[in-house]
Amino acid sequence: MQRLNNEITNCKQCKTIVETRNRPIHGVGNYNAKVIIVGLAPGKDGAALTGIPFTRDPSGELFEQMLSVAGLSRNQDVFITNLVKCNPKDALSRNRTPSKEEIKNCFQYLKREIDCLNPRIVVTLGKQPTEALLGLRINNMAEYHGKGIPKRGILIFPFIHPGYVIRGAYDRKKYLKEFKVVGDDFRDLIRQESRLSRLDILLILLKNSSCGESTGLVKDKTRLQKLLFLMQQELVRRGYKAKYAFRPYLYGPYSRELYTDIEWLRMNGLVEVNSDFNGKVGITTDFIITDDGKKRLSNLDSQMYKQIEEIAVDVIKKYAQMNTAQLVNYVHEQFAEYNLEQLEKSRKHLDMRLDSFMNEESRSSHDKIIQSKKEI
Ligand code: URA
Repeated sequence: MQRLNNEITNCKQCKTIVETRNRPIHGVGNYNAKVIIVGLAPGKDGAALTGIPFTRDPSGELFEQMLSVAGLSRNQDVFITNLVKCNPKDALSRNRTPSKEEIKNCFQYLKREIDCLNPRIVVTLGKQPTEALLGLRINNMAEYHGKGIPKRGILIFPFIHPGYVIRGAYDRKKYLKEFKVVGDDFRDLIRQESRLSRLDILLILLKNSSCGESTGLVKDKTRLQKLLFLMQQELVRRGYKAKYAFRPYLYGPYSRELYTDIEWLRMNGLVEVNSDFNGKVGITTDFIITDDGKKRLSNLDSQMYKQIEEIAVDVIKKYAQMNTAQLVNYVHEQFAEYNLEQLEKSRKHLDMRLDSFMNEESRSSHDKIIQSKKEI
């Protein structure tokens, strides 16, 4: 983020703006914030002077009220930035709307700010930031105002620009009341995501492991490993952020961490694991969710739990017709990017470097011993 801020500070891409600007203003706030708020450009009497978006001018004053009604703290909960990082001035030194070219030049910085922060909510203030982030042309901002639009796992909240409200074109009280939704959604999100871990997702899958049994037994650890992977893929596809909702296994469908996770659930008394040898199908394993496990599940956010359970049931049923061997082949063919040989090679490469390092160390200490023996 520091490197990006330096790049923004030293940017000279737009000839006309460079001649009239004070300095470029990069975003400020918490770099771990889950909410980014994007304005249009620093105002000449505000951010262009203070170096902090939405400060000092009337837009800044309204902005402060917006944060208060939403219960968001400027330093902790949000990161605040602009679509264009420099103040665009007209011939009379008044604020003007940035040109298409200026927006195009600067958009890469906003995209990189979003990539670095990995937010869950992005609020766009005004038409231009909304168009840029939704990738469409907008004729009537009122159609988008205050409506959360999911895009690649991020909830985008377009709002009319505060400057428009300042000019009296929109009712201030109504505007503030509508902005409250951002804070409500933010808190819902924190509540849900901080309470859902990879182990909970595994627990939900185990709880439903007896549904959809036909050809393949879910109670087969290899099958469970592939189903959990498919479920992780499905969660990512539906926009659940890996970082917060769960952490997918590094080795994808080949991961052995699943067994460690099952062991963790067992040791913490959340599941009972009973393996049995069955002549026909080999070893089968029964997973029984204990009362403690059920309690943990009932403490999860009920809406989130319902959504995840639906996905678990969908995934189990979808592959129920394949036996384990077929499922293994299917997953390995479909997700060839997780090539085990390739993954092992990169690990071996690391191990080899470590080996040669160790050998050098031991060689030199061996040499030293020989040397000291000679000296004696
Ligand atoms: N101040 C900013 O930083 N951005 C705006 O869009 C308006 C005022």
